[in-house]
Amino acid sequence: MTRREVLRGMLLAGMGLAVGAPFLHSANKPDSAPSPAPWKEAPDGSKIDSRTWDKMGETLGMLGLGCMRLPSVSGGGGFGRGGRLDQEAVNAMVDYAIAHGVNYFDTAPAYGESEVVTGNALSRHPRGSYKIATKISNMGGGRPTLDAGKQMFETSLKNLQVDYVDFLLLHNIQNIAGYNSRFKDNGLFDWLLEQKAAGRIKHLGFSFHGSNDDLPALVDLYDWDFVQIQLNYVDWKEMSGGWGSGSGTTSSEFLYNYLVGKGIPVLVMEPVKGGALASVSDGVASVMRERHPDLTPAANALTFVGSLPGVMVTLSGMSNMEQLKENVSIFTGFKPFDQKEMDFMLTVADLHKSRGQIPCTACSYCMPCPAGVDIPGNFKVYNSASDALISTETGRSDVAAKRQAFLKLYNEQDKAIRADACIGCNTCLPKCPQHISIPSHMQRIKDIVASLK
Ligand code: SF4
Ligand code: SF4
Repeated sequence: MTRREVLRGMLLAGMGLAVGAPFLHSANKPDSAPSPAPWKEAPDGSKIDSRTWDKMGETLGMLGLGCMRLPSVSGGGGFGRGGRLDQEAVNAMVDYAIAHGVNYFDTAPAYGESEVVTGNALSRHPRGSYKIATKISNMGGGRPTLDAGKQMFETSLKNLQVDYVDFLLLHNIQNIAGYNSRFKDNGLFDWLLEQKAAGRIKHLGFSFHGSNDDLPALVDLYDWDFVQIQLNYVDWKEMSGGWGSGSGTTSSEFLYNYLVGKGIPVLVMEPVKGGALASVSDGVASVMRERHPDLTPAANALTFVGSLPGVMVTLSGMSNMEQLKENVSIFTGFKPFDQKEMDFMLTVADLHKSRGQIPCTACSYCMPCPAGVDIPGNFKVYNSASDALISTETGRSDVAAKRQAFLKLYNEQDKAIRADACIGCNTCLPKCPQHISIPSHMQRIKDIVASLK
């Protein structure tokens, strides 16, 4: 029996407990549902731990508030599905964050109303009490022009109600060709350097979504103040879990070590993989719980990232106060993992990967779909039962039950947004920073649904 098969056996054994009502409850759990995990709220007056970055002259709280999945009035978080953001809820989260030492707030023009709502919330506080990070998200169709890039930056300042940005990122850079077409050939990067010299941008960096091979050339372009990468324990050795990846190998480990070797502070996105590492299977959760009874799956994931000394800020896209409070509690009196614990998390990563999940982070960059498909929504439904859907042991009662639970969830979605509505137009394909082969997965989901009917 191979190591992978042993791990899979462990996982399936653990999952025998996860079938039936508890599974359905977990899959349907609204984002606002309180976590049943054992964690204590940070005391009033306490602050999260911080790190000082001498070259930049900044002291930053280890946890940053990612503003891509802010709470919406219809419940839940995120953008791309037309929901309005809940200003009052965001105000309360920003107030709590600042009171507890969180001083890094990350948004982008591509996050729908996020800049406006975040700007409204932050402008109620002294400008010196927070650092704002936003991006040049000139990723849409057509040729990105200098004027459009300038306009995007000026609109960000207006939306955020500030006259300078602390951290400005070239958004979602995958390789030199992408950088050239979006920032170099049109003169936009030179213009951004002028803005930096004028004090309108304090620190300049980029968010990276390419392969290991693409990073060095981008790093060599400029004396970057920081670089933002995807880093979590599941992606440490290799991202995307093997299927659906359209580009070369990417591993958080390589990206992190390369940047640290160059003396560049690392800003981390997707430490819990769009929430996937906060709601792991019962089998994976029980393995972690046995080792760390006091840590939730999300706490394990965030502690893994925070334990790396080259990490400047760990960004977590939070959708409600409960998530914020738990995350603040993790980084207050932060207890890093030692090497043994870090190694343990990599064995947990193997267990998680053996579930065959589609590595969607629910970022919604692929949305809207011209045919109306809710792409991240369908992937979430698939992932809720992925282990059973890839299982060859179809005769097992737990596998059969999970497959039927998947079918029920799938059919509970509005017909117009199901995978069945996909017309295979490929519009979404180049937009996914995770390089997921979206149309082929939609076809796969359609086939599975047809086979289960
Ligand atoms: S390939 Fe399918 S999911 Fe993607 S944009 Fe086209 S219709 Fe939507
Ligand atoms: S499929 Fe890709 S682009 Fe779409 S939500 Fe998931 S990770 Fe984001």
